[in-house]
Amino acid sequence: MSNLTNFSDEIFKCIRCGACRAVCPTFGEELSEISVARGRMALIEAVMGGELSLTDAFEKAVFHCAMCGACKAGCPSGVDVPAVIEAARAELVEKKRSEGLVRFLARKSLKDKKSLDHAFSLMALGRVAYGPLAATPLAKYLPYQYEDFKRNFPKIPRKPLSSRIPPVSRIRNAKGTVLFYAGCVINYVYPEIGVAALKVLNHAGYDVVFVKEELCCGKPLISLGETEAFRSVAEKNVSLLSGVAADYIVSACPTCSLTLKEDYLKILPESDKAKALGAKVRDINQFLLHETDFITRLDAAEMVITYHDPCHLAHGMGIKKEPRELLDAVTLGGLVEMEEASRCCGFGGSFSFLNYELSGKIANRKVANIIKTGAPAVVTACPGCLMHIGDALRQAGSDTVAFHTLQIYEQAINKK
Ligand code: SF4
Ligand code: SF4
Repeated sequence: MSNLTNFSDEIFKCIRCGACRAVCPTFGEELSEISVARGRMALIEAVMGGELSLTDAFEKAVFHCAMCGACKAGCPSGVDVPAVIEAARAELVEKKRSEGLVRFLARKSLKDKKSLDHAFSLMALGRVAYGPLAATPLAKYLPYQYEDFKRNFPKIPRKPLSSRIPPVSRIRNAKGTVLFYAGCVINYVYPEIGVAALKVLNHAGYDVVFVKEELCCGKPLISLGETEAFRSVAEKNVSLLSGVAADYIVSACPTCSLTLKEDYLKILPESDKAKALGAKVRDINQFLLHETDFITRLDAAEMVITYHDPCHLAHGMGIKKEPRELLDAVTLGGLVEMEEASRCCGFGGSFSFLNYELSGKIANRKVANIIKTGAPAVVTACPGCLMHIGDALRQAGSDTVAFHTLQIYEQAINKK
């Protein structure tokens, strides 16, 4: 049976209105019908009807989607475009046996904790060589070095979050217990954000549990169409995280939150544990504003910032006001809105590794909007966006500094 069979109703819901053209970041750069949800739905429908085969051009159109979900959020017919695209990618993997380096590495490195640790150790070594080489004429032989876009990868610290914080951080008279799920980018690349999360959650009145054995949420796998590898990761994480007695599962990565909350249940529909786990998941900004009195426990200071909405938070989970409310309180009204705040920054996880040039063009539009605000700092609620926007700002020669929301909240409690 085709991976697309279950999605025929979804595809037929598309009325070809073209509203998605206004919000689609890939269409904004490529201005071609196959680069927007409407065209992609038409191509997938043609494949389902047997009028088109799984050609390389079809594969390119399907993998050129940033999976930002802006089309789904604004679609008058409610077409779940990212879900259809994921199914098309799974079809390509299964029937066309699509393969590539990014896919191969994702499958091998995300499957268990040991492989994940090895992969990030290797990346740390690779980064040490890549950085200096990228500054020499040999850069043209490196991946991700184009004429207009020359990627800088962040340093990967020697000690991940799992070596920096205890499994349980207790406080006196805690109101409850939160399981903090870090995800790969925070665990291995930005452990300081995880440390900030722990301090902020304790300050908000909760004991914090961290499961050092947590695996990648698996979103890169499902985005690449690797359904079976994703199922295996989902099963392991559900079993691991469900074993912890916690009132909430909180993440500071919207992609992880969305995956734990929705995708695990989609891939494991019969699992009561996946259902119970999903019900406990909260984005950290949402949690702090709605479940705690954190906003009343701040030592606010004047600061001018602008805010970028991560796609999986704004479009995927509908969370836009929570980080703004908290940031506005922390900065004493210093939040300045940028134009197109909820337009994708171009990261898209595996998207930026598969399509770096397109991803860079999308980032440039974001950077221009950030710079136009005149704010010295841009804040976002996603470690992936933070990495991508920080790199794009550097490439643009801007002095604007990028922060995660937690780094701003942490400043406001450190003064206490
Ligand atoms: S907005 Fe929705 S219904 Fe309209 S063309 Fe795009 S996907 Fe189809
Ligand atoms: S998910 Fe984003 S990139 Fe993909 S078609 Fe929709 S708006 Fe465009």
